[in-house]
Amino acid sequence: MHELTIYHFMSDKLNLYSDIGNIIALKQRAKKRNIKLNVVEINETEGVTLEECDIFFIGGGSDREQSIATKELSKIKTVLKDAIEDGMPGLTICGGYQFLGTKYITPDGTELEGLGILDFYTESRTDRLTGDIVIESDTFGTIVGFENHGGRTHHNFGTLGHVTVGYGNNDDDKQEGIHYKNLLGTYLHGPILPKNHELTDYLLEKACERKGLPFEPKQLDNTEEEAAKQVIIDRSVKNK
Ligand code: GLN
Repeated sequence: MHELTIYHFMSDKLNLYSDIGNIIALKQRAKKRNIKLNVVEINETEGVTLEECDIFFIGGGSDREQSIATKELSKIKTVLKDAIEDGMPGLTICGGYQFLGTKYITPDGTELEGLGILDFYTESRTDRLTGDIVIESDTFGTIVGFENHGGRTHHNFGTLGHVTVGYGNNDDDKQEGIHYKNLLGTYLHGPILPKNHELTDYLLEKACERKGLPFEPKQLDNTEEEAAKQVIIDRSVKNK
C-alpha cells in the first residue's frame, strides 16, 4: 500500500460546519486507490517543515479563531508559500482561504494581518452571505456547497468557478474561490469534498503526481457522491 501524508493545520480552531469531513473524504477516496492517507494535525507550527507533507488542509473559523490561527501560521508562512509555489496541493476553506491574502478587515475596521502568501485581501461586513451555493467550473464541472461569511474577497488570480446560485467571493463579480497552481481556496463549507469528488480526486492525484505514485483507478463509482450533490442542486434551484 502506498502512503500520502496530509497536514491538517489548526485543526483545534478551524473546523466550522464540519470541515473535518474533507479529511474523511480524502482518506476514503485514497483508500479506494490503495493509498493510506496519514493525517498529521498541526496546531503549533514552530519549526515545522513540509518535507513530509504531500497535501495540506486549513478549515474555516470565526474572525477571532482566524486571527489566532493566522498568528500561529505566520511562523511558517515562507515555508508554506514555497510549497505552494512548488505545486503542493492544498485546500483552504473560508477563513483559511481569506488569510492566505495580505489582510482581513473586520466589520469595525480592524485590520488583521494575513499570511501574505498571495496578493489579495478581504473586507468583512456585518451582513453575511449565507446559504446553499452552486458554481460551474471549467476544470471541475458543477460544484456545490454551503457558504456563511461576512468577508468579501476580490482578486485577479484564477477562481474555482462562476457562481450560478449564491454569492461566492463577494456580492458582485459572481466568482468563487481561488485556484492557484495546485492550491484551492473556497468559501464552500458543507463540507465541500464529500459532495464534490472531482476536487477530492484532484488533490489526491496532484499529490500522487508530485510523489511519483500511481493514481489508479482514475475513475471510481461516484453514484453516492453524485446523489448527494444532486440534493443540493435540486434544493438550490427550487429556492432560487
Ligand atoms: N470569519 C470569516 C467571515 O465571516 C470566515 C468565516 C468562515 O470561515 N465561515 O468571513
